[in-house]
Amino acid sequence: MLESPDAPVERVLIIGAGPAGMAIAACLKLRHVPARLVDRQEGVGGAYQHIYGNMTLASPTKYAELPGLPLRTRGEYITAGEYRAYLQRYAEHHKLVVERAEVEMIAREGERFAVSFAGQAERLSYDVVVVATGMFDFPKWAEIEGLPRIRFGADDALGSDSPLVLHSSDWKGPEQFRGRRILIVGGATSAVEIAEECARAGLRPTVSARGKGVRLSPQRILGRDIHDFAHLFMGWLPRWLAGSYCDRQPTLPGSNRGFQGFRQAGAIEVRGAVRRFVGKHAEFVDGKTGEFDFVVLATGLRFETPYLPPEVSRTSAGYPQAAGGESRSWPGLYFIGFPCSRSLASEFLRGISRDAPVVADRIQQRLAKV
Ligand SMILES: Cc1cc2nc3c(=O)[nH]c(=O)nc-3n(C[C@H](O)[C@H](O)[C@H](O)COP(=O)(O)OP(=O)(O)OC[C@H]3O[C@@H](n4cnc5c(N)ncnc54)[C@H](O)[C@@H]3O)c2cc1C
Repeated sequence: MLESPDAPVERVLIIGAGPAGMAIAACLKLRHVPARLVDRQEGVGGAYQHIYGNMTLASPTKYAELPGLPLRTRGEYITAGEYRAYLQRYAEHHKLVVERAEVEMIAREGERFAVSFAGQAERLSYDVVVVATGMFDFPKWAEIEGLPRIRFGADDALGSDSPLVLHSSDWKGPEQFRGRRILIVGGATSAVEIAEECARAGLRPTVSARGKGVRLSPQRILGRDIHDFAHLFMGWLPRWLAGSYCDRQPTLPGSNRGFQGFRQAGAIEVRGAVRRFVGKHAEFVDGKTGEFDFVVLATGLRFETPYLPPEVSRTSAGYPQAAGGESRSWPGLYFIGFPCSRSLASEFLRGISRDAPVVADRIQQRLAKV
């Protein structure tokens, strides 16, 4: 039961005001479906409020456009800073209003949902909840013997006899690392991008990649960006043909925007996994060693939904199980921006853009029935 019978009844709640939450909010608005859009941080843009502005998005600009507002740039690609500005314009264009509120728990109550917010005693009831909370809040931390588990900035005194450690989600460009020895742990997209950026700035980073090493894909094939092929495949391949892709946590290779050339020129050094750290001294599995002032953990991010109870079904990798963007266990609960929530591309901007109008149609139909 709801704790307050007099609580205002709103029909749709959207949690998260990143690209996914904004896209679904805009699509619902265009269908004249009122929705409440909340985010635990101030303003719109989600992860793009924090992603380092000079970083160039891996996907070409044409795949980052959201429904209802063209995105044009001079070149084929866009930086995170330019995209942040686009998201701001997007909110203004669609007159999106974001309330600052953090969802703590969602419970099923018959056909509806009772939602608890941080700092609020009463729960509010909704017919439909759309989860668009992204993955930026949950960095994966590498467990390496001897590596301090304290994030950069939390205790800079550590720098005296241990390397300072930061996660790639806190990366703000190479300038502050000038003249310092930097180790990047990881072998996929973020590691490749950060290493290239360091090399372009004249730093000589070392990349430590376990297993088969750094995973690189060419940026272009037959004169076209690799995303043209990937999205063709991911956008339309039915999930039942995708095997285990949707059940595991895939890591994407980095686009080769100079990495290979830098490596050949000696501007980026690649090593295997780190066995352990003794102070600033890293021992690699191949027996080599090195001294490092900074360690960047480009070890990825994970989707987590701590506000959903265990009865909401999830894949073995922990992603909510959905079909057509709707939870398989709780009808009326929708996911946008999550892996495989509608197609193989659902977690990417291109997928968000395609999913939002379809999910908005489904929500409209559901509301007409209940
Ligand atoms: C460094 C980096 C580069 C990327 N590059 C690309 C790229 O080139 N192309 C591409 O397609 N994708 C890329 N991505 C994938 C990325 O996940 C998407 O681009 C996009 O950020 C997803 O948008 P979102 O709205 O799903 O999530 P987010 O942008 O993460 O927004 C989620 C929002 O939900 C809010 N929230 C979370 N929990 C709660 C809660 N309990 N209550 C209230 N609010 C909450 C958060 O505060 C946040 O504002 C990249 C991601 C990263 C991290």
